[in-house]
Formats: sequence, structure tokens, C-alpha cells
Amino acid sequence: MLAPDLPVLILGGTKEAAELAAQLVARGMNVTTSLAGRTREPAPLHGKVRIGGFGGVKGLGQYLIENKIALLIDVTHPFAVQMPKNAQQAATAAGVKLITWQRPAWQRTAQDNWQSVHSVGEAVRAVPTGAQVLLALGSQHIAPFAERADVHFLVRMVDKPTSAIELPNHHIILGKPGSVEQEFALLKAHKITHIVCRNSGGQAAYSKIAAARLLSLPVIIIEQAPTRSASRTFEAFLEEIFQLLH
Ligand code: NAP
Repeated sequence: MLAPDLPVLILGGTKEAAELAAQLVARGMNVTTSLAGRTREPAPLHGKVRIGGFGGVKGLGQYLIENKIALLIDVTHPFAVQMPKNAQQAATAAGVKLITWQRPAWQRTAQDNWQSVHSVGEAVRAVPTGAQVLLALGSQHIAPFAERADVHFLVRMVDKPTSAIELPNHHIILGKPGSVEQEFALLKAHKITHIVCRNSGGQAAYSKIAAARLLSLPVIIIEQAPTRSASRTFEAFLEEIFQLLH
């Protein structure tokens, strides 16, 4: 059992981490969410927030000890590779309990036309010549597509880029994914022939997958590496944490 005044640290940056913080704060817990600082204007969170890297395993371990963290909860993005490893090592070294959860990947249906790949490099090679691509990747994964001068890219980004995008043929749209109807209209309006995206799971980004299905569009999808436990639902994960509070 965890007393409400004992500090809890959530490694966040995901919708589910924000939901968890809200749930724990509502139960009177002393919660801090840590963000990497990838989003320029992160949505407001319940509880305290700290932003920026810790400085590797050592830095995170120090933070856990100095802030007397009683429970570390890793709810980072399914494509975050380093932070889950750091969390595991730092929690062990500091003797802090760690609970992890990774958002499950989307599952292909019989109507989907997916080409699964396992890296950005593989996705770059998978796009056919002459394609009109909706490139729905984080801004740091766009540069490798610069070698594809034979393709046109519609690049969707949440934040306005701070430097020029080095793709030979591209057009940028700013914003988050819309509804299935909006994604359908976007794909039609830009005569998109292929989508390139990551299998991030969750509801928010799924609308483009549903719209692609309606249009029978091919989706070149970069699959998650299974790094953490995805074997339970988010609700089961919440329940596991609530059990610790009773
Ligand atoms: P990562 O490879 O796991 O982390 C790299 C470094 O960023 C970590 O070693 C850590 O720096 C810092 N970091 C990561 N998450 C942190 C957190 N919650 N609080 C404080 N520091 C954190 O992950 P990433 O580079 O952030 O992202 C990997 C992939 O996930 C990218 O493709 C990205 O698009 C996607 N993604 C990430 C986020 C996010 O909020 N991080 C959100 C959406 C998508 P130190 O070693 O210095 O502690």
C-alpha cells in the first residue's frame, strides 16, 4: 500500500500518462509527470510537471533518490526505446518500485492493405516511385525520406518546423489527426496513394487507418518493438496501480 503523500513519478508524454496523472491526483496522490520536452506546447496536466531529460540512468536514479520517489510509472510512447531501459535500471539501482505499460499496437483487419516494416529506413525503401504519400511520422523521422526525389510527400506535423524540411517534393500541413471523415476528405483532396506511419496504437491517430481502409489505400506501417508489457489493457493497468493505493 502507498500512502497518498509519497511521491509518484510518471514518465509521460502520452495521452494515457495524462489520464493516469488525472486519476491519481483525483485520489489525492502526490504526482509529478516527467516530459521529454518534444512538444512545444504540451497540453496541461494534473499534478506537477517537470520537463527535459534526466541525464541517463545515473541522472534518473539521482532524481528518484533526491525526490524520495516511492513509485515510478513508465507510460512513455510505444516508440520510446531508451527511456524504458533507463527506467528499469534506475529503479533497480534506487530500489524504487517500477510499473510499466505500453500502448498496444493496432491490429490489421482483413480489409486493411498494410505493408509492415520495422524501421524508418525500410519504410523509405518501401514507397513506390510516383507515390503521393501522407507522411505521418514525428518530425525527427522525416529526413531519411529526402533521398526519394521520385515521390511527393504531404507531411503532417503538430508543431510548425523550426528549420526547413529537406524533402525535395513536399507540402506541410500543421495539426493533429481529425475524425475518420476528415481524414477521408484529406486523403481524397491530396490524391494520396500511400500512407507512411508508425503503429502507435490508441484512438487519436487511428482515424487515418480507418479512412485508408475505406479507400483501400496501402499503408506502409512501421511496427512497434515489444519493449514493455502490452499484455494488459489500460484499464487493467490502472486497476493494478489503484490496488497499490488501498
Ligand atoms: P527515448 O528514445 O526513449 O528517450 C530518449 C531520451 O529522451 C531519454 O534517454 C531521456 O533523456 C529523454 N526522455 C524520454 N522520455 C522522457 C520523459 N518522459 N521524461 C524525461 N526525459 C525523457 O524516447 P524519445 O526520444 O522521447 O522518443 C522516441 C520516439 O517516441 C520518437 O519516435 C518520438 O516521436 C516518440 N514520441 C515520444 C514522445 C515523448 O514525449 N518522449 C511523445 C510522442 C512520441 P535522459 O537520458 O537525459 O533522461
